[in-house]
Amino acid sequence: MPPTRPKSSKWKTELINSVAEELAASIVRLRDAGVESAQLEAQLLLAHGLQCSRLDIITHPERLLSAEELSSFRDMIDRRAQRCPFAYIIGHRKFFGLQLIVTPAVLIPRPETEILVEEVLRRIPDHAIMADVGTGSGAIAVAVAVSVPKSEICAIDLSEEALSVACANAVKHGVANRVNTLQGDLLEGLFPGQIRFDVIVSNPPYIPTRDIDTLEIEVRSEPLQALDGGEDGLDIYRKLFVQALNLTDLIIVEMGTGQSMAIARIANEAGWGAIELIRDLAGIERVLVARP
Ligand code: GLN
Repeated sequence: MPPTRPKSSKWKTELINSVAEELAASIVRLRDAGVESAQLEAQLLLAHGLQCSRLDIITHPERLLSAEELSSFRDMIDRRAQRCPFAYIIGHRKFFGLQLIVTPAVLIPRPETEILVEEVLRRIPDHAIMADVGTGSGAIAVAVAVSVPKSEICAIDLSEEALSVACANAVKHGVANRVNTLQGDLLEGLFPGQIRFDVIVSNPPYIPTRDIDTLEIEVRSEPLQALDGGEDGLDIYRKLFVQALNLTDLIIVEMGTGQSMAIARIANEAGWGAIELIRDLAGIERVLVARP
C-alpha cells in the first residue's frame, strides 16, 4: 500500500476520502441496491481498483484515495449497484483453479461445471481429442487442456465474441496450441470420417424460456444465447445427442435442476444406451455421461 498520509499540501488536494469513509458509503449503496454480500464485494472492488489485497483494505482504513482512484472505484460501485455481475466488473472469475477472463459476451463459469470437468478427466485418455460444444469463455476446454497436457481440444461456439474470450483464456494459460476455436452451430460441419472425438462435452443453455424473467438480475445480464434452452429448456440436447452419435462414443453434458430424467430419455431415443447421472454438491443430478 502507498503512504497513508499526505506529505505536502500538494497531496492534500489530490487525496480525498479515506478507505473507511468510501467503503462505508459504498456498502450502503450496494445494500440499498439489493446486493447481498455488500461489504465483501465493496472491499473486493476497492482492492481490485487499488491493486492490493482485501486484507490491505481492512488493515489500512485510514489510507486516502486519490481523485482518480476514487472515481474509478465509484464507477465500479455504480455498475454493481445496477446489478452488473461482479465478475464482469473485475473481468475475471476463478474456475478449476484457473483465473479466467470473462466479459459480458460469455456466461460466467459456475462451480457446478467443475464437476463436469472432473468427470471428463476421470474418463479420457492422455492423448484425448475433445470437442467442447458452446465453449463460451472456454472454461471447460481450457481446464481440460491444462489438466491433460497431451490433449487436443476443439472449442466450438456460435458467438465469435465468445470465441475470442475462449482464445484469450487459452493463451493466458499456455494451451493455445492445443485449443482450437471453431465457429459453428453445435456439431454442424463436422463429419464422421473427417474427425472422431474421444469425448464430446457441453454445458448448453438449458433454462426454459419462460423462466428467464424469473432469474436473478445479474444472471439476466449474461448472454441469453448461453442461458435460453427453448420452451422446455431441452432444445440443444435434442440436436446434440443426435449429432454427437456419429462423432464419438462418449458424451458428457451439464443439466439444470430436475432435467435429468427428461434428458436421459432424449439421449436414449437418440441411440445412447449406457447412461450415468452424477450429482453436484447440492445433491442435484447435474452431469450426464452417456455411451452408445
Ligand atoms: N447454470 C446456469 C444458471 O443456472 C445456466 C447455464 C446454462 O444454461 N447452461 O444460471
